[in-house]
Order: sequence, then C-alpha cells, then structure tokens
Amino acid sequence: MEAILKAALTQIKDSSLVLEEDYSDKKRFEKAIEMVLTPQKIIKGKVKVKGKNFQAYRVEHNDARGPFKGGIRFHHQASLDEAQALATLMSLKCAVAGIPYGGGKGIVIVDPAKLSQEELKILSQEYARLITPFIGPWRDVPAPDVNTDGQIMAWMLETYEKETGQQAPATFTGKPIELGGSQGRTEATGQGGVYVLEAYIKAKGIRKNGVTIAIQGFGNVGFYFAKIASAAGYKVVAVSDSSGGIYDKKGLNIDKLSTSKEKYGNFSEVAKKEKRQFVTNEELLELPVTILVPAALENAINKENMEKISAEVVFEMANGPTDSEADHYLNEKGVDVLPDILCNSGGVTVSYFEWVQNLNGYYWTMEKVNEELKRTITKAFNDIDKIKTSKIISYRKAANYLALKRIIDAMMLRGRV
Ligand code: GLU
Repeated sequence: MEAILKAALTQIKDSSLVLEEDYSDKKRFEKAIEMVLTPQKIIKGKVKVKGKNFQAYRVEHNDARGPFKGGIRFHHQASLDEAQALATLMSLKCAVAGIPYGGGKGIVIVDPAKLSQEELKILSQEYARLITPFIGPWRDVPAPDVNTDGQIMAWMLETYEKETGQQAPATFTGKPIELGGSQGRTEATGQGGVYVLEAYIKAKGIRKNGVTIAIQGFGNVGFYFAKIASAAGYKVVAVSDSSGGIYDKKGLNIDKLSTSKEKYGNFSEVAKKEKRQFVTNEELLELPVTILVPAALENAINKENMEKISAEVVFEMANGPTDSEADHYLNEKGVDVLPDILCNSGGVTVSYFEWVQNLNGYYWTMEKVNEELKRTITKAFNDIDKIKTSKIISYRKAANYLALKRIIDAMMLRGRV
C-alpha cells in the first residue's frame, strides 16, 4: 500500500478512537468507520490519445453529505492507491469546511509535459467521456488538481454537455470566468491558507511581524500562498520549485521572483543569474523558520528527513505532505502540524461557491467571495481549535474527529449504517 493511503487510513483509525466515546452503539459505530475506510465506487478505464493508452480512474469515496467532489490529477507517478487516499481526504476536507459534499478524486497516469496541446485536449475530452455517466451537478463534481486547470475543465465541460445534450455548468468547478467560473477561484487555495494562518496566530497570540515562512512549491497553491502572505505582512524567506529554491533571511519579493522565474525558467537558474542564495528542496525543509509550508506533492516530510525539520509549525498546503511516521514524530516534538484538510480547504470552498452561483445563474463579486471564504475558513479553524483544546489532541486529530463525526452522523441519518 502506498504511503499516502496508509497515512489517510491510519488517520481515520486514530481519530475514531477519540470519537468512539460519542456513540453508545459501538457495533454501529465500528461499521460506520469500516465504511469510511472504503470508497463507495471506483471507475476504471483507459484513455486513448493518438494510439496510446493511459490508465485512468475516478474514485467516489462517500456521498453521505452531498455529491462527490474533488479534483482531477494528471501525473505519471499517480496510482489508484493515491486516488483513493485523495478521495478520502476530500470527504474529510468538505466535512471540515462544512460544505455539503462528499469526496472524490480523478487520476490519469500520464506525464502531461510530454503531450502537445492537441494531445492534452484529446486526453481531457476522452477522460470526460469515460466519467460522463457517473458525474453531474447532483452526483459528482470534478475540479482541477495537480497539472489540470481552467482550460482543461472547459474542454471537459464541453464534452460532458455534448454527451448529455444540455448545458450543465455546475458539473465542473474551477472553470474559466467566461464559462461560469467564480471570481477568486484561482487564488482560493492560497487565500484560504492565509486565512487559516491569520486565525492561527490570533489564537496563539503570535505577533505577525516576527513570523518567518518557508514554502516548498511554487505552483498555483505555493505561489498564491506566498504572494498573499507577504502582502498581508508576513516575512516569506524561502520559496522553491522542483529545481530548488531561493533563500533570503531578510524576506523575498514574491512578484519580482515570479517574474525572474518566468524569465529564466526555474529557481536554480534565477539563483545563478541573479546571484541569489540557492537552497535545495531538502535544505528548504530544514530552514530555521516559524512556519514551514509544504505546498508541492505528497510525502515531502517523511521518516528520512523528519528529524531535521526545525520549523515551529507546519502548514500543509499540499495534500498528504507528511507521512504517518513524521506526523507522529512532529507531534511528540511539540510541533503544531496544521492539516491539509483545513489548510487547503479554500480551493474546494470557492468551488462550492462556484457551484452555488452556477445553480442560481447569478454571480458574485470578488469581495463577496473573499468575505464568505474568510467566514467559512475562520469558523472551520475555530471549531477545530476548540476540539483540540478540550480533548488535548493534535490539530490533525481534531480536524479528523470533526470531519468523521459529520460524515458518520449523515450516514446514520440516512440509515446507511
Ligand atoms: N483539487 C483541490 C483539492 O484537492 C480542489 C478540489 C475541488 O475544488 O473540488 O482540494
């Protein structure tokens, strides 16, 4: 079993031990937990692009709280285990955010960097055709994830609508604004993470101007988190992409760095050309900062490097960036690990706003989106913080406790268990 799936299932089992005491019928509770450990449906198929076949999946984890919801990932190292883990995390994430969805995840095992634009379009259309019988506004609502974006959602929406013979923009979120996308969706995950950060430092009584941040990953999530956090007055001292990163104790100018990265291709080149201090991705994780933000792929913090982490707090902006051993180790050490299902829930929360706008045919301003996002995220943080304090458990356990309780109560009300 892959590490990320092991971590997701272990988290559920661990948190169920705390939750168990809330339920008098232990057998019924155990059955409910068994159901949460297993996805409801797995759709499998091959996607054909110009004579080449790519393995594809859509995992529908649990829809007790609403339609399945979750992104579609194009990655050559992806697997069914990973899709199952990420679909499970989506169920927990939507429950933590208090938005009315279950969890799902789609994966195509492909390296999109090796495809032409034309091939990428065919891949997206063929994948949409594969999942069309299983998705829809009240059934399963996909969105972007790693290596997918608004253009890909637009191609998929067109395919779905042609196949079903009707307009149905609420079938996909993360669409371009022109096709019913929401204001603020692109930056939503980063923006949501900064709202969690603001709530966290307020709860802990930490002064903003003393906080330093290192961010691994400069894709959509890492970039907007860095940009919005530094605009909010935090000192971002390191950022990286897959080539490595730039470190400056005095703080970085994110917009300038982003322009340089565009000009020279990656941070390793930026460091050489602009004579900046270069750090490898491993070194970035070990920097003596207040907050470490893994915002790239899973298992960045693992049993090999966990002892070298010197940050005081970890903010999981990627999905599943800490493996089970490292999570346990950091907890013992007294490092607060703010879990992915809270930190990066801004993305799916604005997806929910997009879906609401599509169903209403009425569109919100950026101000309204951000106001609602801040309210939703701050409430999620405060709910979790309260549980953490009263039960003396980690943030992750508290978040899972809250999520599992909401999912299990919905399953019980429906009579599924
Ligand atoms: N892929 C994002 C996530 O993992 C967003 C999912 C969505 O908007 O449905 O949270």
